[in-house]
Amino acid sequence: MIISKQKPFEEILNFLEDKQNIFITGCSLCATSCMTGGKQQIDEMKERLEQSGKTVTGSTVLDPSCHKLQVRASLKKCKAELEDADAVLCMACGDGAQTVASVVKIPVYPANDTLFIGEIERIGQFYEACKACGQCELGWTAGVCPITKCAKSLLNGPCGGAKNGKCEVNVENDCAWILIYNKLKEQDLLDTLLEIKDPKDYSKAANPRKLVVGR
Ligand code: SF4
Ligand code: SF4
Repeated sequence: MIISKQKPFEEILNFLEDKQNIFITGCSLCATSCMTGGKQQIDEMKERLEQSGKTVTGSTVLDPSCHKLQVRASLKKCKAELEDADAVLCMACGDGAQTVASVVKIPVYPANDTLFIGEIERIGQFYEACKACGQCELGWTAGVCPITKCAKSLLNGPCGGAKNGKCEVNVENDCAWILIYNKLKEQDLLDTLLEIKDPKDYSKAANPRKLVVGR
């Protein structure tokens, strides 16, 4: 899931400084789960904008905001409200906001900061899990990502700086390599670590990337 966090309201108002009529979009998937772009957050945003003197011409939760065909079709149904608007406030991730911006003609402003690809541990608690490196290493690391969860993205074992199981870079985090070692040990797979890994091919993560599936 793409984890996002709502921007401070002052920053959002700053974007909209010279815009009076606002159309709000949300997203049914990640931003709804992150509580940054579901129906409830849109209603709250509408209320705050109206209290700040803005007019909200309409809103919709896109399903999802990163699917260009769906976004185009959904926004077609909101044609009149969009025509009344000077700007769109997009309550999705950065990808969702770019998708909306590619479909509408008026300015689109992001309501959220996009943080990382991660998992929901419990409601309101999100942890980064994957940097989309382009060649997944989890098959030999017992399902713990060394690229994301090790602060130095090391591939051939720990840096040696961990203390009491915690990472020397951020002592709140468990050392990823201790986690990897312990899980491989539990699974009787420690031999996996005897193989020296080649330097990682980061050209696979050179952006912007694209993938075309099929014909
Ligand atoms: S190895 Fe790469 S693709 Fe796999 S979880 Fe880590 S960052 Fe993501
Ligand atoms: S202490 Fe562990 S997690 Fe932190 S940088 Fe070193 S090997 Fe990576």
